[in-house]
Amino acid sequence: MNDVSNTILKNISTTTNALTSPPAYFANENEVSLFEQAYHNHLPVLIKGPTGCGKTRFVEHMAARLGLTTYTVSCHDDLSAADLIGRHLINHAGTYWVDGPLTQAVRHGGICYLDEIVEARKDTTVILHALSDNRRILPIDRTGEILAAHPQFMLVISYNPGYQHLLKGLKPSTRQRFVALTFNFPSPAREAEIVQTESGISADMAKQLVTLAQALRNTANHDLEEIPGTRLLVNAARLIQSGCEPRRACQAAITECLSDEPELVDALANIVTAVFAD
Ligand code: ADP
Repeated sequence: MNDVSNTILKNISTTTNALTSPPAYFANENEVSLFEQAYHNHLPVLIKGPTGCGKTRFVEHMAARLGLTTYTVSCHDDLSAADLIGRHLINHAGTYWVDGPLTQAVRHGGICYLDEIVEARKDTTVILHALSDNRRILPIDRTGEILAAHPQFMLVISYNPGYQHLLKGLKPSTRQRFVALTFNFPSPAREAEIVQTESGISADMAKQLVTLAQALRNTANHDLEEIPGTRLLVNAARLIQSGCEPRRACQAAITECLSDEPELVDALANIVTAVFAD
């Protein structure tokens, strides 16, 4: 892609991944086989779950297992259908068309993963309809092309239902086109295994971090916008593994990331102190 395309497309955060060996993924239930069945039946998948509970890791893992490239788009409130489909650009020779990430996946095969889909503008969900039922087509108005999806194309969307404003939910007409997988935080034993594998810390320290997460998640003080996900535990564990003192690591990687309210951060810090008291 030339500089002009890079500049014009930079307002979307897209990552394209063709992984050879699957990144570690600890399954909760039967989501791996369900996803494979959905893929083989050309059914799109919707993943619901809190931030940092493994949705993106799961998609990366499944893509590598199935030998597919992933086109990941982090959706935001300015993301339009054109950002996903593509647009005409101009260079010295005239205008030319550049496929967006969705069109690339539809044309060449692969998983198009739209992370936090409910954040995107409403016109984006409408273009997904013809792709997510048995037509599996992407009409590209600007070029007049009606693109039939590659047999290895799969659409995956995700969102965090707890965090979304009611008005930002998915419309039933969109939701009912998908196979839905609901994710939650893993059991304490499984979460400790994840933290240990992802960071290399000891089993005991991983357990302590999970105990902390549970205390923070259960805390009656629900002024928190979001409860801590596994990602925050992994970040703290990595700091600890690099030599950071555990309470300091938890403050930097967990409590400070949960709120900007000084009083609330202090209350969370007290929970850290209680869990790591020796
Ligand atoms: P989400 O997309 O739900 O916000 P991620 O998939 O990015 O969350 O997960 C955040 C991090 O937590 C991952 O990078 C990984 O280190 C860890 N993680 C969470 N769940 C799992 C899991 N089931 N197996 C392996 N790693 C996990």
